[in-house]
Amino acid sequence: MIGANLGRLVEDMTAWRRDLHAHPEFGFEEQRTSAFVAAKLREFGLDEVVEDVGGTGVVGRLKRGSGNRAIALRADMDALRIPEQGDVPYRSTRLGTMHACGHDGHTAMLLGAARMLAEDGGFDGTVCFIFQPAEEWGKGAQAMLADGLMERFPFDEIYGLHNMPGLPVGRFETRTGAIMSAEDNFEIVLKGVGGHAARPHSGNETLVAACATVVNLQTIVSRRLSPADISVVSVTELLTDGTRNALPGLARILGDARSFRPEVSARIEAEMRVIAKGTADAYGCEVAVTYTREFVPLINDPVLTGHAFAAAETVFGADNVATAAEPMTGSEDFARFLEHVPGCFVFIGNGEGSAPLHNPRYDFNDDALIFGARFHAEVIRQRLAPADYAQA
Ligand SMILES: [Zn+2]
Ligand SMILES: [Zn+2]
Repeated sequence: MIGANLGRLVEDMTAWRRDLHAHPEFGFEEQRTSAFVAAKLREFGLDEVVEDVGGTGVVGRLKRGSGNRAIALRADMDALRIPEQGDVPYRSTRLGTMHACGHDGHTAMLLGAARMLAEDGGFDGTVCFIFQPAEEWGKGAQAMLADGLMERFPFDEIYGLHNMPGLPVGRFETRTGAIMSAEDNFEIVLKGVGGHAARPHSGNETLVAACATVVNLQTIVSRRLSPADISVVSVTELLTDGTRNALPGLARILGDARSFRPEVSARIEAEMRVIAKGTADAYGCEVAVTYTREFVPLINDPVLTGHAFAAAETVFGADNVATAAEPMTGSEDFARFLEHVPGCFVFIGNGEGSAPLHNPRYDFNDDALIFGARFHAEVIRQRLAPADYAQA
């Protein structure tokens, strides 16, 4: 696909992206989006298009030649419950919901790659196009896997990408190994006896104990974990049942922890339980800790990351490919697929002027569409190169 065709594809991807942007849907509610995706894939002439995989997920398959290898490319489709503040002609028509993470762009780019590969071929084997729901929840990939994704649409390796605000359009980066963190959530509930604010000694209030707990939790990362292990423990909420004149008998501390290795996640939980119990004991309160694991760390396969760099050099140019991106303490549902097959997750620039992800003024940069679509297609052409191409 060259010249005029590529120009037409850019126009079409831009139109799709803006249509999706105007009609954002929250995780597992992507009915319109998945119908849009399935209709396009059928229009491109894919061999198989299956809807309702893991709820609102869509899988398309495209086969060429006789090769029996299969590679998956994945995009996410869900939006966020954030009221849009940007003033673009295609702004969200759904009050309180917007594409603030660029999944509208990811979906449009993977559709663009599907059309390029369906029209031009240039590979030998099977491409699985995976459009997953509910990435932001960290539940969509699991839902597709639980619905038999690997058995019904088997593949040997998988690639995915995310746009990155701050990185110029036309630039690419990733790294081998751990690139995005695990996300754990926690809730610590302290129980005591509330009472009159003027007579604290006659009850056993929980707010001072909760404050001490919040402070003590800061020592997990700073004093219990190795500085070589990147990790974060953030308390995000402190809620009580107190009111003016009344000390609380109940306090809830909620938060979020990030790490890159299961051993570190386990250590954070263990230390948190010790600190919560010890602090509560010191203040004569009862305590209960709930600790859940929402996202697993995203680990890029070293060999496939090398292949991703090779494809990126063709599309972005060697000077625009950074091979040692710093690990990020954000999380990605893509990591769930990597528990089943090796793969690589990459980042492409959304521009230096871009608002941050999850910001009410964020907007996907349409200039990045062609880079993402071409990267997806190039990975397939290099990894599923027909024998005569490979020898050339
Ligand atoms: Zn997001
Ligand atoms: Zn995202």
